[in-house]
Amino acid sequence: MNNNLDLLMDQAADLINKYDNIYICSHVQPDGDNIGSTLALYMAICKIKDKVNVIKVDEIPSDFLFLPNSQVFQEYSTEMPVDLFIALDSSDIERLGPGKSLLKKAKKIINIDHHVTNDNFGDVNIVLPSASATGEIVYSFIKHMNIEIDKDIATCLYTAISTDTGRFMYSNTTYETHLIASDLLNTGLDLNLVNIHLYQNRSIERTRLFLEALYNMELYLDDQIGIATVTQEMLSKHNAKLEDTEGIVSFIRDTDTIEVACLLKEISEKEIKVSLRSKKSVDVSTIALKFGGGGHIRAAGCTIYDAIDNVKNIVLEEIQKSFR
Ligand code: 5GP
Ligand code: MN
Repeated sequence: MNNNLDLLMDQAADLINKYDNIYICSHVQPDGDNIGSTLALYMAICKIKDKVNVIKVDEIPSDFLFLPNSQVFQEYSTEMPVDLFIALDSSDIERLGPGKSLLKKAKKIINIDHHVTNDNFGDVNIVLPSASATGEIVYSFIKHMNIEIDKDIATCLYTAISTDTGRFMYSNTTYETHLIASDLLNTGLDLNLVNIHLYQNRSIERTRLFLEALYNMELYLDDQIGIATVTQEMLSKHNAKLEDTEGIVSFIRDTDTIEVACLLKEISEKEIKVSLRSKKSVDVSTIALKFGGGGHIRAAGCTIYDAIDNVKNIVLEEIQKSFR
């Protein structure tokens, strides 16, 4: 670990020791890395402080309710007295949704993240794009604070890392990732149970939504680009939720000819959530940035406020440009 990182972690630990009203806030449409990192840091800080508050700004997907302490998430309220605000896995303050107003009230902000597009909005910014998941950084931070990583904390961190690396397969997976995973497994966490909850727990509704979205996938540029859509109508037809779209875009990328996979999710008539994935050469974070979003080179996203057909056209045009 380099000196600068040690220094940043010292600064963050000092803030945690100093303040009483500590809030960890998850981001909109929270994923496994965000939820796992949040719960792990919550449990770690609980070992040295009387109270830590954990805020949700969106529902926690049912996939993650098996995690220890998943019930600690509270709804955000404007009354909350915030001294220290901790954001995890959020590349900019817009990712925090209404949590942004808590952040604005805070005396100090700790920003722990691994997105290349992070804009360093904190007073202390521990931003490491080389980390496969925010969970990796939280692991190092908990160690840095000399707090024991017990089985429950390990379960949350393992979930964070496993989900953000696509089960240790994506290009962000490193030697370090595996060392950390190995240390987490050494706590005796129930790997089979975690894997069943995360990967062998798909509802029939989700399966049907997957099938329709994939069946109607459109291909462009000699089948190098694949675009699928999920509309509100499809969600109601299959009695599925927005969180049930998780995994569709990476499934498209797994197609042999595909370099860029795109999923358009209709949140409402003129609000479309775009998910982008690439395989080898295209940097999708720069595409997402053009629309005010962000992410990683191989996985990024943004929200575009327009009808789904228009969004498809403008996003497709940007994706095509990225091949030139
Ligand atoms: P997903 O497609 O799974 O929603 O997101 C893929 C990656 O892009 C995640 O790392 C996520 O944090 C990032 N991302 C998705 N949507 C947005 C967005 O609207 N803004 C920013 N800054 N990042 C996003
Ligand atoms: Mn992440």
